[in-house]
Amino acid sequence: MTTPTLLQMTAPLREAFDIPYHDLGPRDRPPRVALVAGLHGNELNGVFVLSRLAAFLRDLADGLRPGQTLEERVLVIPAVNVLGVNLHSRVWPFDKIDINRVFPGLEGGETTQRIAAALLKLTRSAYYRVDIHSSNPDIEELPHVRLYEPNDDERASACLFGLPAVIERPLNRIFSTTLAHAWRAHGGENFVLQAGKAGDLQPRHCEELFRALVAFLQRSGVIGGLELSDEEEDLHYFGLRQTYALLSEQAGFFVCRLEVGRWVQAGQLVGHIYDGFTGDIRADVITPVAGLVSSLRRQPLLFEGDMIMRIQTLDESGNDVEAMMHGQGQ
Ligand SMILES: [Zn+2]
Repeated sequence: MTTPTLLQMTAPLREAFDIPYHDLGPRDRPPRVALVAGLHGNELNGVFVLSRLAAFLRDLADGLRPGQTLEERVLVIPAVNVLGVNLHSRVWPFDKIDINRVFPGLEGGETTQRIAAALLKLTRSAYYRVDIHSSNPDIEELPHVRLYEPNDDERASACLFGLPAVIERPLNRIFSTTLAHAWRAHGGENFVLQAGKAGDLQPRHCEELFRALVAFLQRSGVIGGLELSDEEEDLHYFGLRQTYALLSEQAGFFVCRLEVGRWVQAGQLVGHIYDGFTGDIRADVITPVAGLVSSLRRQPLLFEGDMIMRIQTLDESGNDVEAMMHGQGQ
């Protein structure tokens, strides 16, 4: 079978190249699910996980897993920014444009506009749509579902992934040019998944992401005959006023031993900021609120005002209601 392509592009001095995708399951129906990763070419967790998931779904479709079936049609686009993945680049390498800032795109426009238009055209007929990101190279994200002004169906379905957190965020003007925003005009249910950090691969997050996607496909009736492990899922839903961004009041070297996914207490010492020359401690980093650490700075060089971590609170003590862009990677 030939591999379908999203778009074929010609280049001045080499053969044409294209963006391949997987079209799996019964072709005579509209796609039930569209899974997208690699809009940003340096966010490798999603690219890797979707390529592995496509292999798994291909086996189901080919009957290689007795008793397990692919009941619905699924589109999998592992690497939209295919050149960026090859060059470790977030943006489209030729013109440095961020593909997730040009939606809904334009047929007959610049290359990135054509990619956006083709991707939207391909995916808009699916009922469930999932766009997978990592954060930027400085911040690590706990694998979670992110919802932007969701409806009640999306709130309910977001829990089917079984990830440790579902986090609601407000829409803002910058996000009006993202794929997730463009999907909203076409109904259905739309999700952004965040996992890990850009620049390299975090296998632990990849495993969690893979399990989450399989759980979602099983629970939404797309794949059949699969037993999910009955591992206890510890899922929390966080509304708009439940995100607290801890910002640094000091420049320096930030050192901490926390991991994303850990719970912290109010007043807990979570790290230190050192003077990078004298080695003296400039500040203790103390969390003013209790909650789940969903984002954590991994780049130690800190300027005043940089985000150190994002904490999801169980009450409404969040301060991050204005959709600050720190490390969104999206
Ligand atoms: Zn991204």
